[in-house]
Amino acid sequence: MTGENVKTAVVGGGPAGCAAAYYLRKHGHDVVLFETQDHVGGRTSQLEREGFSFGSGALFLMGGIYPRTHALLEELGHDGELVPWDARTQVLDDDGQRYRAKFDQVVSFLGMPVLSWRDKLRIAVGVARTFLSPGPQSCFDGAELAKWDTGDLESWSRRVLGDRGTRYITEPYMGFLYAVPLGWLSPALFHAVIKQFHKLSLSVPPGGAGQISRWIVDATPGLELHLSTAVEKVATGPAGGYRLQAGGTTHEVDAVVMAPEPGVAADLLEGIAPDHSVRTLRECPYSDYAHVQVGYKVNPWPKFAASVALPATTPRAWGACVLQSHRHPGSVPPGGEGVGVYFYTPPLADMTDDEIVEEALAAITEVYGPAPRPDVIELFHYPRGLSIATPGHYARMDVLHGQMPEGMYLAGDYFAHAGIEAAILSGERAALNAVAGAPR
Ligand SMILES: Cc1cc2nc3c(=O)[nH]c(=O)nc-3n(C[C@H](O)[C@H](O)[C@H](O)COP(=O)(O)OP(=O)(O)OC[C@H]3O[C@@H](n4cnc5c(N)ncnc54)[C@H](O)[C@@H]3O)c2cc1C
Repeated sequence: MTGENVKTAVVGGGPAGCAAAYYLRKHGHDVVLFETQDHVGGRTSQLEREGFSFGSGALFLMGGIYPRTHALLEELGHDGELVPWDARTQVLDDDGQRYRAKFDQVVSFLGMPVLSWRDKLRIAVGVARTFLSPGPQSCFDGAELAKWDTGDLESWSRRVLGDRGTRYITEPYMGFLYAVPLGWLSPALFHAVIKQFHKLSLSVPPGGAGQISRWIVDATPGLELHLSTAVEKVATGPAGGYRLQAGGTTHEVDAVVMAPEPGVAADLLEGIAPDHSVRTLRECPYSDYAHVQVGYKVNPWPKFAASVALPATTPRAWGACVLQSHRHPGSVPPGGEGVGVYFYTPPLADMTDDEIVEEALAAITEVYGPAPRPDVIELFHYPRGLSIATPGHYARMDVLHGQMPEGMYLAGDYFAHAGIEAAILSGERAALNAVAGAPR
């Protein structure tokens, strides 16, 4: 199946689906993309409110550990527009002490005075050994990570960085990125990050993370884009290929890239893919995830020095506070400020939405000092926010590619763990496999 007149449907217009559509069009497929919402971007979308641009999900790109994302943005002529984020960080200790670091410079965490020389030596040796020994070369390639997925992150970190390295480096880091206890996670990602820490830098598109998907579809001429159109059913076609029902219309296509979250993919693949594959997709673990974005028309703390505050351990319900004007200047009106408060998953189970908002406001006062009630408050609460890369996750997901019937390709960030790079890499691979007619 190559070249002209092959028609491929893409289900889902997040970064994975948009990247798939781009590469399919580039290789000559006719492409129809269906997206439930009235815009592309999925969990990277922006919400515009009263002069503020709130991120509904993703905050930043991570430089050299996001190679496929940067390669795509380079190809589209937008990589040079990314705005660097310096991510000056304060790590908050349980006793209220604050230590300075830079989120994109793992080594800067060694400068925290709470770490003794003995701690620093232990951590430095652990980092150096990890850096020099074999390990995953990619942070977002599930097949690669699967080879290094042994044990759990908590045990791995305590062994490699020691208890205090775990408390002051691994917990704040991963608390911000994945918001679940370290024991729930595979060590493979953190292992890969340490091996590539010198490539890490943070940046944001000028219009926020949601701009990436818009850039991609704008650079995909001939794409048949159906917004506000959920795919309701997929069936095999009478003469091969697939028949999709979406928005009251039936579409016949030769191939499908399935790029919604795995629970939706499971529903749509019922009766098409093997039962055990559908079950694996449905059981892909997801975390409850919430964050609160608030906006002040007048900045209450114009001189605050850090951009990110991270608790060292988890007695607090939240895992990060982010000043939005530092990260993404265009996200606040002139003279204003925004804050995002990102919550840990376990406490959310016992919190009402009102309690989450009040806890966020208390966190803001604790971190930045007193402020009037914000002019705008927006709660983003996803019952299925981020896929969790539990031990064994990468291999469990990777085998699914080979179990799909002919002409059906899966994409989505859950093949690695949440992240725009994982989504774009998976979309690119699904498209290239569809072009080659390969089974995966
Ligand atoms: C709070 C939060 C913070 C994050 N921070 C970062 C970050 O800083 N950096 C980073 O790299 N990543 C971050 N992420 C993760 C990032 O947002 C995801 O990795 C990325 O959005 C995954 O892309 P995707 O295309 O796989 O899935 P999604 O973005 O979820 O897109 C799936 C799309 O499918 C659509 N869809 C669903 N069902 C159907 C259907 N039946 N028919 C048609 N369309 C359908 C959905 O509407 C959605 O648009 C964050 C996520 C969250 C929630």
